[in-house]
Amino acid sequence: MNYPTQPKASHFINGAYVEDTSGTPIKVIYPATGAVIATVHAATPAIVEQVITSARAAQRAWAALPGTERGRILRRAADMMRARNHDLSVLETHDTGKPYQETSVADAASGADALEYFGGLAATLTGEHIQLGEDWAYTRREALGLCVGIGAWNYPTQIACWKGAPALACGNAMIFKPSETTPLCALKVAEILHEAGLPAGLYNVVQGMGEVGGALVSDPRVDKVSLTGSVPTGRKVYAAAAEGIKHVTMELGGKSPLLIFDDADLENAVSGAILGNFYSSGQVCSNGTRVFVHKGIKEAFLTRLSERLEQAVIGDPMDPATSFGPMVSERQMEIVQSYITKGIEEGARLVTGGARLDRGGFFLQPTVFADVTDDMTIAREEIFGPVMAVLDFDSEDEVMARANATEFGLAAGVFTSDLTRAHRVAAGFEAGTCFINSYNDAPVEVPFGGAKLSGVGRENAKQAIEHYSQLKSVYVRMGDLEAPF
Ligand code: NAD
Repeated sequence: MNYPTQPKASHFINGAYVEDTSGTPIKVIYPATGAVIATVHAATPAIVEQVITSARAAQRAWAALPGTERGRILRRAADMMRARNHDLSVLETHDTGKPYQETSVADAASGADALEYFGGLAATLTGEHIQLGEDWAYTRREALGLCVGIGAWNYPTQIACWKGAPALACGNAMIFKPSETTPLCALKVAEILHEAGLPAGLYNVVQGMGEVGGALVSDPRVDKVSLTGSVPTGRKVYAAAAEGIKHVTMELGGKSPLLIFDDADLENAVSGAILGNFYSSGQVCSNGTRVFVHKGIKEAFLTRLSERLEQAVIGDPMDPATSFGPMVSERQMEIVQSYITKGIEEGARLVTGGARLDRGGFFLQPTVFADVTDDMTIAREEIFGPVMAVLDFDSEDEVMARANATEFGLAAGVFTSDLTRAHRVAAGFEAGTCFINSYNDAPVEVPFGGAKLSGVGRENAKQAIEHYSQLKSVYVRMGDLEAPF
């Protein structure tokens, strides 16, 4: 690693690192060992004031630049992220505990994709001309102003870019508050954007817990809030934003269904279930954690799944051979352990896993429960860890009703070789993102977001532009204007 895990300072404001040690210390813990690898300080009210003032001051000039110029900077930043992929991946692994095998292909890489994609779109953002007889009108696509991004801890680089890239492409300024559990990666995103030529003040990072997020969301000078987090936090942030009638994007939790029909390719279905439950140690919002398996193939599925799980390489996340790492924190590990206990108490059959590994850090075994019923806690609540619940089903109608019987609606998947069934099922899912014979793909070209309690708005794709810009209509009269008196 070419740089230490301790950042130069806690915050990145107005193009420079800024420290204020009077803020509450936040210890950054490497999940693989439990060692403290950095300390940052939560933003004080003075830091919050400084970041809001400087971001607002910088935004107008940025919005006035041609889109091509804004986009060029973002695309340069994308190239720099790719060139530094190794170091950024090592940092991501230390921030989150996710194996380098994952971070080296998934995190800075998808952040770079977002910067490149929205960098490319920046020059295409236009309004339209509307002819009205002799008169006419036109629309201008304008920035919202100052956007606040608040991140979860599972994909700190990706979330910082997924929010920052479209915000900047549209001419906004962004203040990003990472999760207090993973405060390091977003600082590197800010550094790279500024090295790529982003003017000072436009992409800022401030640290802190919910209190700092709350201070940003409720400030009247903030125009938009984009949160990635849990439903309870979403409710609070949405309500606070509503006070100021602010724009919002909410990327929240899920308990997504994955349907495996008896005509599915079993090996692919097992791969989908593994990707949708154990990638990033199961800490993925869109995971298909309710795996509904057609009764006839249940035992064959469980046998093959257990065999494949034995091939998981659990260990030092920095070893490129490691394919399964620790939970992000001791707290998250304990939450997941309590769900495993509940699963056993409520009568689910523990097929494999269930235990903490006898080593330092916060390692849990990949865990599979079978004979899970719809009313069990592990089938209803988001666990956010490596715990798969396998449920049986008989018919398509029955499983569709059960799959949709949840307050969440982030994602859903189906494995089948029946073409018409695949599309019928996808149409029937109450979810924002669906997968046919695949799971958890999230390319930047495709809109991503939730239905029901899982969220509002969409990230990625052209649709994200709608959530970081607004239209102004301008009416133009060509002749004299008559009035009644
Ligand atoms: P969390 O809700 O505890 O925290 C998310 C962020 O909100 C953190 O930065 C936190 O400091 C901040 N926050 C907390 N209270 C706040 C308040 N009152 N005002 C403003 N900010 C506040 O979530 P987490 O534990 O960090 O992440 C896990 C959750 O995130 C899971 O539910 C997961 O499904 C969800 N998630 C969703 C997506 C998605 O795209 N839909 C992606 C990743 C994670």
